[in-house]
Amino acid sequence: MALAVLVAAGRAVASHAPGGEPVNDKTAATPTPVTASCGCNHTTDSREVVAEPRYGLFGYSALLFGVTARPKRVDFVCTRCGETIHRAHDAATIDEHTN
Ligand SMILES: [Zn+2]
Repeated sequence: MALAVLVAAGRAVASHAPGGEPVNDKTAATPTPVTASCGCNHTTDSREVVAEPRYGLFGYSALLFGVTARPKRVDFVCTRCGETIHRAHDAATIDEHTN
């Protein structure tokens, strides 16, 4: 009797904690904090740094046919030194820099 209760309790705990997946989903949905800077000390907040959408092969094909493609990622490039200081893959940042 006591054993059956323990097994049932163990199953209940297991079903409520599916291997830490919700934690991973939460971090993926949050935009990556940007603290990087380039050689001339510009960050993504600087006017010298521009966001350049990068398209995968499918994205370029879609652009050829006049379809608005969603960029695969957004690169933040310093126009002064040409350095890519950050590559954003998260949906929030990509949407922010997509027309
Ligand atoms: Zn720079």
